[in-house]
Order: sequence, then C-alpha cells, then structure tokens
Amino acid sequence: MMKPIRETIHHLMNRHDFKERYEAMKRDILNDPHVQSFLRGHDVTDAMLNRHLGKLYEFVQQSKHCERCSSLEQCPNLLKGYTPHLIWQGKNIDVQYERCARKVQEDERKKQQSLIRSLFIPRDMLQASFDKLETDDLGRIEAIELANTFASTYEVGKRIKGLYLYGSFGVGKTYLLAAMANELAQRHIASFLVYVPEFVRSLKSSLQTDAFQDTIEYAKQVPVLMLDDLGAELMSSWWRDEVLGPILQYRMLEHLPTCFTSNFDLKRLTHHLAHSQRGEEEQVKAARMIERIVYLATPIEMKGKNRRIEM
Ligand code: ADP
Ligand code: MG
Repeated sequence: MMKPIRETIHHLMNRHDFKERYEAMKRDILNDPHVQSFLRGHDVTDAMLNRHLGKLYEFVQQSKHCERCSSLEQCPNLLKGYTPHLIWQGKNIDVQYERCARKVQEDERKKQQSLIRSLFIPRDMLQASFDKLETDDLGRIEAIELANTFASTYEVGKRIKGLYLYGSFGVGKTYLLAAMANELAQRHIASFLVYVPEFVRSLKSSLQTDAFQDTIEYAKQVPVLMLDDLGAELMSSWWRDEVLGPILQYRMLEHLPTCFTSNFDLKRLTHHLAHSQRGEEEQVKAARMIERIVYLATPIEMKGKNRRIEM
C-alpha cells in the first residue's frame, strides 16, 4: 500500500506543473467561505498557510461531503457521521470532528431501541407508537388513555400500578403494549416485552442454562415488565409456581410496575391458572397469583373490532 502512494507523490512532485496545480488548489481552499470566515481576524502569514494547507484541504473536502449529504448510511467522511470543524490551537490550525445532526439522531434512536428488550414479539409490532395509533373504537379509548398516562408519567422508583389489558383477539392489546414500550424508551425507561406462550415453551428447553437465569433475573428487575397474552400459555404448576410466581412476588416487593394482556378477564384467568395440563386443580395457588396481578396492575377491558387481517 505504501509504495504506490509514495510513487504517486513522487510523480506529482516531479511534474513541471506541480507549482501551478498547488497554487490553484490553494486558491480554491482560500475561496471556501467557511475557511475565509475561520481565518478572518487572524494574522495569517503565507508560511503558516502553506504549513496548514493539508488541514484546510481536509476540512474543505470533508465539509463538502456534509453539504451534499443524502444519508448517514452513505457518509463518505473519514469518520462516518462526523463533521469537521476548524479550530485554532495557539498558532496552529487543526480539524476537529463532531457528530453531525443525523448521527446524533441515529445514536439517540439506537439508544432508545436498546431500552426495549423483547422476546417473541414480531419486529414490526415493535414499531407501534401512540402517534400512529388509531382511536376510532370507543371501547378502547379508556385503555389507550390509561396506557398513555402510564407511559408518559411513570418515573423509575415511583409507586404506580401497571395495566391488565383484557379483551378478545385482535383488538390491539399487544400493539398498545408496544406503543407504551416506545413511549417509555423515549423517556429513557427500559422495558421488557414478553410473549408469554412462546416464552413458556422456550423456558422448558433452556432450563438450567445461564440464559434462562439471566432472562428470569431481567424479568424481575427491569423497570417495566410487560407480559403479553397471559392465559394463552400451556399451564403447568411449574410455570405458575416456580417462574411466574417468583417474578411477580419480587416485583410486588420492589414496587416495580408490570403490565399484562390477556384474552381472559380475571375470573377466567383464575380458572386457567387453577387447571394444569396434568389435571391438578389448585384454586388456592391460582387465587394467590391473581392477588399479585391485581396488586401490580389495574384491570381494564378493551373492546372493538378485530383488527387482524384475516388470511
Ligand atoms: P391483540 O394483541 O389484542 O390480539 P394486536 O395488538 O395484535 O391485537 O392487533 C391486531 C392488529 O391490529 C395488528 O396487526 C396491529 O398492528 C393492528 N393494530 C392494533 N391496534 C392498532 C391501532 N390502534 N392502530 C393501528 N393498528 C392497530
Ligand atoms: Mg396480542
């Protein structure tokens, strides 16, 4: 790599028109309005200019890229997403790089996205937001309002109840959770959105692994936990008593809000939680679980048309 560059420079230096080309380049640089305003008011000798022409050239090239910028993706600058500034270091000229507006915005978006962790939630669902949300159905307005209030006022450490959103298939329960997660992320609050039926299935196969322990630990401690479609999972006393119970217990004691969605109202959820696949009937344990849910979340019904596109 080094040899060709040295050869190129050598070639350039030996050209008889080198001096002219150099002067032309210098003129171009000094004609740049940003360079002019930077140099204005400073006592700049020709020797200084020659010494710093490389820096000025770099600035002009890089800032031209910025002026013609079409997207962060296509940024050709030395440091992608960084825009040059000329600065004086005593009597020396230097170029400093700062994040451009697009890069700042993108970094912020990524930071927010990293605050939303999810398991088994479709990617496009995670784009939900209160801005895009339609509020045509009267049966959902109360739920949407409560969800919006929660997401836009909750502060970490504040004692506040989450929501238990219930209603039939396709009324937009999961969508509303995702909108809450996004609103919370904009306010720099982390959330964990879990699709329960798939979660329970996957727990069985990852039992005893570190990943399993980490997930459970995160579900306990995340500022806002959102359990989507509770009641649609395959019920087992193991899931209820060894996993869900301890998570909810921990969150109750630590005053960490938790949101749920379900096709079932609390009465039907009690029934679901009381009947494991093995045919055991455990009313007391189910009732205890419902107590925790009610402690953590306010039940609210969502009504309206099925918004799922029939296939
Ligand atoms: P549920 O979880 O209650 O079964 P979903 O949240 O999956 O329902 O919503 C069903 C479909 O309707 C999804 O495709 C979702 O993107 C869309 N949807 C739900 N609520 C809204 C809304 N308020 N505005 C626009 N689209 C919505
Ligand atoms: Mg759903």
